[in-house]
Amino acid sequence: MKHFPVFMSVEGRRIVLSGGGDAALAKLRLLLKTEARVTVIAPDPAPQIMRWALEGRLTLIERPVEPGDALCAVLFYAANDDDAEDARVAALARADGATVNMVDNLHGSDFITPAIVDRDPVTVAIGTEGAAPVLARRIKRDLEERLSPNLGTLARIGKGFRHAVEALPFGRARRDFWSAYYDETGPRALAEGGEEALRPALKSLLDRHLKGDATEGHVAFVGSGPGDPDLLTMKARKALDAADVVIFDRLVSPEILELARREAEMIDVGKEGFGRHTPQEHINALIVRHVADGAQVVRLKSGDPTVFGRLDEEIEAVEAEGLNWSVVPGITAASAAVASIGQSLTRRGRNQSVRFLTGHDVAGFADHDWAALARPGEVTAIYMGKKAARFIQGRLLMHGANPDTAVTVIENASRADERVLETRLFTLEPDLGNAGLSGPALVFIGLAPRRAARALSTPDLQEAL
Ligand code: SAH
Repeated sequence: MKHFPVFMSVEGRRIVLSGGGDAALAKLRLLLKTEARVTVIAPDPAPQIMRWALEGRLTLIERPVEPGDALCAVLFYAANDDDAEDARVAALARADGATVNMVDNLHGSDFITPAIVDRDPVTVAIGTEGAAPVLARRIKRDLEERLSPNLGTLARIGKGFRHAVEALPFGRARRDFWSAYYDETGPRALAEGGEEALRPALKSLLDRHLKGDATEGHVAFVGSGPGDPDLLTMKARKALDAADVVIFDRLVSPEILELARREAEMIDVGKEGFGRHTPQEHINALIVRHVADGAQVVRLKSGDPTVFGRLDEEIEAVEAEGLNWSVVPGITAASAAVASIGQSLTRRGRNQSVRFLTGHDVAGFADHDWAALARPGEVTAIYMGKKAARFIQGRLLMHGANPDTAVTVIENASRADERVLETRLFTLEPDLGNAGLSGPALVFIGLAPRRAARALSTPDLQEAL
């Protein structure tokens, strides 16, 4: 380690920066986050620097650096975008006793500024001793994604509560308390009730820990999206990371299940046997049992849990027992499918509304307002529509739909094996039957793939567009 990372106290102390161009601006954006007194010395400062000076955020001296300018400064930055000028001012600053950084000059610098992830008061500093700035940026990006923007708020409020937590025995008990706060209780309270909800949540968490009744079960109804793991939300990933139990459906892709915490118990409620037909009451009872046992449960549903997902029945079962739950939305199949064919669900002048229908319901093929659906320009996304295609085709034609209406069927949207069938209403069957699709598929009435929108006359099965 050639450079030793430390966090320097700069509150109320003087930092001097020489330069008024791009390098200076980049450093100033960082320095102005601190509570240091910042002075900029530049004969020709950028307008932004002048604005900061007018706002009183820094002191601006409009001339080149002179001997004595860096007296009493804790840090000095040479940021002139000019090697010779940087070397000149660095020598002057050192003579004044300052510790010097020359921007983009590792060897000329007494210290280097790390890449920073800022969740004040939590700060992560990343350094590679100049070896791999690209790597530092990647690590920063990964951490920016992983560390919730709320972490600073959690830490700030948590700090005010440290004294109360001393009621718990030193060591393990306190560590468990803080883990529960940062991983579960804090983020949840913040999401549900904002900053004001944090203190009461801390208090009731502490009460539970003092009583030795530490774990409180919870179920998150999480949308897994259409299949591509990159289409998971950050919240979904975090929930999977923290899960004790994952209860998943048939359509959740294996790559997504891989992301669950290694120790999590994985329960498949979507296969034949225990089954595709696992009765809803069994699923409800399973969720309730695990949550009541104090587990962090993820109930993973394909797409968005609020779309044809029987979500309400599960929420009601959990609520009837007075247990905790939350919903993490996901990308529904219709969104992923239109993205693949380059179309919008709504379009000015074409359709002001879009309908999501199910092809069949508990009573068989589902009935709908066919006359409304048959109007020109309407866009309809039909979920679970493969078997019902002939029925839907018949109903629409019977209610006056144009037989030439574009129909697109997208199978396995967003997955590697995605396929697109492009057809018209009057050829939907037999085309769909002939295509022999075996994966989940969405039928769009009123949309053609953008690329082929002008040449609709040859219905055929295409590979992913
Ligand atoms: N909650 C899910 C829908 C569940 S119903 C969502 O929001 O997407 C199951 C139906 O969704 C399937 O029959 C199929 O019509 C559709 N579906 C789910 N995943 C799909 C995918 N990757 N590609 C196309 N259709 C999909």
